[in-house]
Amino acid sequence: MNHADRLYLDHNASTPLTAAARRAMFEILAPGGNASSTHAEGRAMRKHVEAARAELAAHAGVAPKQVVFTSGATEAAALALSPVMRKASGELRCSRLFVSAMEHPCVLAGGRFAPEAVATIPVTPDGVVDLGALEDLLDAHDSEAGPALVAIMLANNETGVIQPVREASEIVRRHGALLMVDAVQGLGRLDIAPAELGADFVIVSAHKIGGPQGAGALVLGDAALAPVPMFRGGGQENFHRAGTENVAAIAGFGAAVAGLAQSGGRWDGISRIRDFIEAGIDTISRDTGMAAPVVFGSRVERLANTTCFAQPGILAETALISLDLAGIAVSSGSACSSGKVKASHVLEAMGVSQAIAGSALRISLGSDSTSENAGRFLTAWKDIVGRIARRVDAA
Ligand code: PLP
Repeated sequence: MNHADRLYLDHNASTPLTAAARRAMFEILAPGGNASSTHAEGRAMRKHVEAARAELAAHAGVAPKQVVFTSGATEAAALALSPVMRKASGELRCSRLFVSAMEHPCVLAGGRFAPEAVATIPVTPDGVVDLGALEDLLDAHDSEAGPALVAIMLANNETGVIQPVREASEIVRRHGALLMVDAVQGLGRLDIAPAELGADFVIVSAHKIGGPQGAGALVLGDAALAPVPMFRGGGQENFHRAGTENVAAIAGFGAAVAGLAQSGGRWDGISRIRDFIEAGIDTISRDTGMAAPVVFGSRVERLANTTCFAQPGILAETALISLDLAGIAVSSGSACSSGKVKASHVLEAMGVSQAIAGSALRISLGSDSTSENAGRFLTAWKDIVGRIARRVDAA
């Protein structure tokens, strides 16, 4: 099957590069020049970096100096999750890190905190961070030892469940703690402005919005509060992150952010396509005599493009391979760790049984996904479920 015949339904893992991002990158790859050099070539490179910075800053409602470009959200998380912060008035030492149990592995890993200083905030069966538990954890925290840092994502990459970040921020503020928000899956779909979220730090990634892989950013809620750098050396990125900037990737990121204004409107119809898929899988299960599918997070607010469901009796691995053979790319569990199939820590945190979690598939639509795409998926799904149901009947 050639590439054009394939149907890609794994946009939460990575999105195709937009034409504008590709153009912006190509333009920069050939001429060369270091963005820190003062000659014309260097200045031209600097212009590209600063244009991208201005674009992301405007999108996030911050000043350009509050945007720190990194190699991706993983690096931005490692940078933000620092026990030592630089403040205008000196140093601030955070004694503890609380991360929600459904965070992406790059946040769950705890950044630069010692493992014993990291604790998890539980998640409800609907996949929402448990705010009561957050309150209890912060109540019990000894703030004399230093404030706590809390990390809660804006929307979960596996279930699409949108988190009550604003409410979490109010709890965090009441306790004098700091908040980092992983907005990777929210960028382009939800408001990621630190002021709106009540966040001190927001992290984003280019390749979830049609930008290149290997570019991301830490957005500071306040220019006067920043984590101590991980990379020291040159003064790049306003002394927050030393190292020659990856100008082509940053420019591609900037072009993708600029393109969000156009793709934004298209998300409106996407939830209808997602709902059509969910209704379709339900009908297929009924028609074939299989147990009803379980849709995770369906009772709470989710990203319009994401559905994560399990069809009891069909292993995710089997379904994934069968769909791949039919030319359709979806994911099981978290795609960042895909390739090895293990039960998702997100579903585990929601209290989903191993048996059901082992059947979990995620479909994540793109802003250009169509109802024809959904129809093609459902035709392939009907075929797979029907085949397995007949095998079960014959046994
Ligand atoms: N956070 C979330 C929610 C993600 O989905 C991902 C990537 O899948 C990341 C962080 C890591 O981003 P990056 O690939 O830029 O390191």
